[in-house]
Amino acid sequence: MQEKDFTKMKRRGVCLIIAAPSGTGKSTLCKSLLSNHAELQLSISATTRQPRPGEVDGRDYYFYTKEDFKNLIQNEGLIEWAQVYENYYGSPRAPIEKALSEGRDILMDLDWQGFRQMKALFPKDVVGLFLLPPSLKALEERLRNRSSDSDDVIQSRMKKAESEISHWNEFDFLIVNDDLQVAEKAVETVLKSSRYAINRFQEEISC
Ligand code: ADP
Ligand code: 5GP
Repeated sequence: MQEKDFTKMKRRGVCLIIAAPSGTGKSTLCKSLLSNHAELQLSISATTRQPRPGEVDGRDYYFYTKEDFKNLIQNEGLIEWAQVYENYYGSPRAPIEKALSEGRDILMDLDWQGFRQMKALFPKDVVGLFLLPPSLKALEERLRNRSSDSDDVIQSRMKKAESEISHWNEFDFLIVNDDLQVAEKAVETVLKSSRYAINRFQEEISC
């Protein structure tokens, strides 16, 4: 029988999707995770919403007009998309398909609708992590402290928070973002352990 070298076994990439009501701290956690894990690639979404102060086109989002976003959908440039609040958000298809086929890990910041679509497309690759704020009161404080949205926008995000939270049990993991460092460690644990899940390894193992 031919000797098999188990140390050379290839694994599929993890597609880690983080969802949470806006203001919970997803972007903060994702930034920190990316700076500590050079091997992790961020999926940069397309959106029709206006950039917030400090956001850069091509780094935080690809900012599109509604017209251009519709064209992207028609040309099948997005692997998933959804209307969130009054804007459209979607994930460019090519970088995700490439990363997963090459066995690289990818990080996505999506709402529950995006997670559901991705889980249906890539059931083996997608790991869904739902983040909760410590309370709704803390969520509102975080939205206000971020100072990037008007009162009306904050109110509409607070209204949406409860319906977003109602999807928590569709996900694989749940983490409360109370202390940022503790939450970061927990997200890192999910990423690291997901890499060793049995369904990452596609090769036949026989002795
Ligand atoms: P999201 O991407 O989920 O909309 P952000 O990452 O923009 O949220 O965070 C919203 C605000 O909350 C920011 O001002 C951020 O600095 C702050 N924040 C994030 N995590 C925590 C935490 N654990 N404790 C206190 N403030 C936090
Ligand atoms: P924000 O405007 O606060 O950056 O994002 C609003 C919501 O849209 C968040 O819940 C965020 O996760 C979600 N979102 C961002 N990009 C995408 C995407 O590409 N697809 C989907 N479905 N949701 C997204």
